[in-house]
This record gives sequence, structure tokens and C-alpha cells, in this order.
Amino acid sequence: MLPEVEKLLTLQERDQRIRAFELELNAIPDERRFKERQIADSATRLEAAKTRMKGIEVERNKLQVEAQAKRDSIAKYKTQQFQTRKNEEFAALGHEIATAEKAIVAIEDRELELMEEAEGLRPVVAEAERAHTEERAKLEAQIAELGRKAETIQARVAELIASRPALAEGLDEDLLDQYTRLFKSKNGSALVELDHDVCTGCHMKVTTQTSVAVKGDKALVHCPNCGRILHLPA
Ligand SMILES: [Zn+2]
Repeated sequence: MLPEVEKLLTLQERDQRIRAFELELNAIPDERRFKERQIADSATRLEAAKTRMKGIEVERNKLQVEAQAKRDSIAKYKTQQFQTRKNEEFAALGHEIATAEKAIVAIEDRELELMEEAEGLRPVVAEAERAHTEERAKLEAQIAELGRKAETIQARVAELIASRPALAEGLDEDLLDQYTRLFKSKNGSALVELDHDVCTGCHMKVTTQTSVAVKGDKALVHCPNCGRILHLPA
């Protein structure tokens, strides 16, 4: 194998490790946002359950005030009945009393419904509270873990990058540029094996001429189709 190909292969192996770490690193912010969204969603579910609970409380208080007003009216009508001497007025007040009593029954029915709803909702709120606390703790731990993972990867990448110049030493500047461009444009594979006359980068069969040139091992050979540098299996 040509010495520069051998050198480039070592360099490529290093660069592939750096690239893999960087891809992992780039995925972390999304993973983090995803977990933060999950925390927010679980908080929203809890809030929805709590809001309904508060709504029930507010409506019950309002109903109690209404019922009390009706009772006060009934008491007033009864006093008026006691004071009047007119049969017609007595009957009219009696009618008012009956209407108010009916209204109280309706209010009490509604109150009962609300109490039952609150009863059913209480375990739901408790469960949402428990789930949210648990979920948040779990996700926050995972987010912290992601932060540590990012730091570890960054340190590892810095090490790998620092040791890179030693691997590139002695390589021709133009060749290095060519390699760098290929590595970038071909998603981390600048040099690929020629396997049974097939370029393992683009999977195209090469011409006999190209195949002979690779096997001759005298000069750098590029795949005529994808431009990658071809080498024989190690
Ligand atoms: Zn190719």
C-alpha cells in the first residue's frame, strides 16, 4: 500500500472517530429539548387537573351564595305572609316561596354533582401530582446526565483533535486538502476499499483500467464515479 494512503487511512480513522463524537454532541441539544418538553407536558397535565378542581370549588361557592340568597328571600316572604291580611297577596307570596324552594333543590342537585366530580377528580390530581414529580425528577436526572455526556465527549474530541497534526505530518498539503474536502463532502469516507472491482463508497463497478491502477499501487487512484480515493483491502 502506498505510504500516503496508509497515512491517510490512519488519519481518516481518527477523523471518523472525531466525526462520530461530533454527531453525538450535535444531537444532545435536541435530546435535551425533547426532555424539557416532556417535563412541560407533564406540568400541563397536572395544571389541567388542578384547574378543573379549582373551577369546581369556585362554582360550589357561587351556588352556596345563591342558595343562601334564596333562603333569605323565603324567610322574607314568610314574614310578609305573616303580616298580610290579603288572601291574594298571601297566595302570591306562597307561589314565590315555592319557586325559591324549587330553585334551592336545583342548586343542591348541582352541588351534589360537583361534589361527586370533585370526589372523582381528587385521585386524578393526586396521581398527576405523583406522576409529575416522578417524571420531572427522572427527566432532570437525564438532562444532567446529558450535560455530563457532552462534557466527556468535548474533552475526548479535544484530545483527538490535538493528536491529529502528528498523524497528518509528512503528507503533501494538496493531498491533505483533497482528502479534507472529500471527507466533508462524502460524509466521512474519503478513502474506500475497492472490493471485487466495486467502489465501496458509491457501489459502482470500476473499469478494468481503474482496477489495474489500484492493484498496481503506484499512484493515488480516484473512483471515476464518486471521486473517492480507492485502496485495496488491508
Ligand atoms: Zn465510487
